[in-house]
Amino acid sequence: MSIDLHPEAEPHTHALQDDLSRCIHCGFCLQACPTYLELGLEADSPRGRIQLISALAEGRARPTPSVLGHLDLCLQCRACETACPSGVQYGRIMETARATLVETGERPFAWRLRIAAMRQVLPHKTRLRALIGLLRVYQQSPLRERVRKSGILKRLPGDVAEAESSLPEMPPASFAPTPQPPGLTSAVAMLTGCVMPHLFPKAHEATVRVLNRLGYRVVFPENETCCGALNLHGGDRVFARRLARRNIDAFLSQGVEAIIVNSAGCGSTMKEYADLLAYDDQYRERARRFSELTRDVLEFVAAHDLGPLGEVRRVVTYQDSCHLVHAQRVKTAPRAILRQIPGLELREMDSPDKCCGSAGLYSMVQPEMSQRLLSSKMDDVETTGATCVATANPGCMTQLETGLRQRGLGGSAPHVIELLDEAMRATHGRD
Ligand code: SF4
Ligand code: SF4
Repeated sequence: MSIDLHPEAEPHTHALQDDLSRCIHCGFCLQACPTYLELGLEADSPRGRIQLISALAEGRARPTPSVLGHLDLCLQCRACETACPSGVQYGRIMETARATLVETGERPFAWRLRIAAMRQVLPHKTRLRALIGLLRVYQQSPLRERVRKSGILKRLPGDVAEAESSLPEMPPASFAPTPQPPGLTSAVAMLTGCVMPHLFPKAHEATVRVLNRLGYRVVFPENETCCGALNLHGGDRVFARRLARRNIDAFLSQGVEAIIVNSAGCGSTMKEYADLLAYDDQYRERARRFSELTRDVLEFVAAHDLGPLGEVRRVVTYQDSCHLVHAQRVKTAPRAILRQIPGLELREMDSPDKCCGSAGLYSMVQPEMSQRLLSSKMDDVETTGATCVATANPGCMTQLETGLRQRGLGGSAPHVIELLDEAMRATHGRD
């Protein structure tokens, strides 16, 4: 696995040996790992995967389908990082391993096709908009039923059938910034992201309204692009770096107080640009500044006086998004916000910080494990009696909405910021 590395990958791959050597094989991470809890196999645990990556890096193992299968079943949820007493940077280890496998040509055609598709679509707003438009037409027409019944999707290469079945319903319109109230003296910049403005426009609208009420004008840098999280998780670190550089250029020129993100997965990647570009002489310092400025919207908002809030009469349970709680270590802020909302009753699940099975593209490429984890999550949700499952990441929102639908619970899975916005609107009146 360490042969013929891409020049950009090399420094991180050398650091991999240091990262791997921090594991003392204690096994404290095992009970935190969703795939280990489901399968009970050492090879599907964090410790087992670290051993496999070490063996690959040292040439003691070959990347056989079986070895890759254990690595690919990892959700990259990073619950093992929070549980580890030795500070093992598991997320970085897995990202480096996946990148090295791609860069040394060990991935099959379907994997490379996925990487190429992500490169061609996610950072291109016009292409993405066109694709979303087509999906809207497809979902609203009788064509969808006909295509599904024909069985054609199963005959297409790659993960097309799985991707189609796990597509969320498209809202009728995408997010578009509207005029903000005059007189706002402070400014923050906000990442709109790739798919979020199309799939969750309400979460973006709520984020802007809440920030406005706290006194911030929200700036949307013209040249922002996709954060690169999906590329990074798929092993395309080279392209993720290109996206990171573009975002750094776009956002740092705004001279704002903070860079706000309402997608936990994007925020975690952006907070780690400093690490991603640690070996880039031209961008190292600016990447560090960018990461320091980046804030998840909930941690940013929770540090403010929220002012008077109106009632939101709802029983709510909170699902920690893995990349908020494990990667960014933001656990109390969302709960503190929910607890301040009058009329809202927060009922905790037994395992709110266990992955729901969404994990970026995981629900499409590992549908069986994703469904098992969703089912276990919904059992946990049901014991609370809540049908509103608040969370902080678009992938989790989609997955939890699917879970609620599958169980016939008829609830919803909003972003926490939407509930706060509702409480603010209940006080201030609709605008
Ligand atoms: S808890 Fe940390 S040190 Fe212990 S086995 Fe897991 S990764 Fe290794
Ligand atoms: S990232 Fe999540 S799924 Fe992967 S080994 Fe760690 S706990 Fe398990």
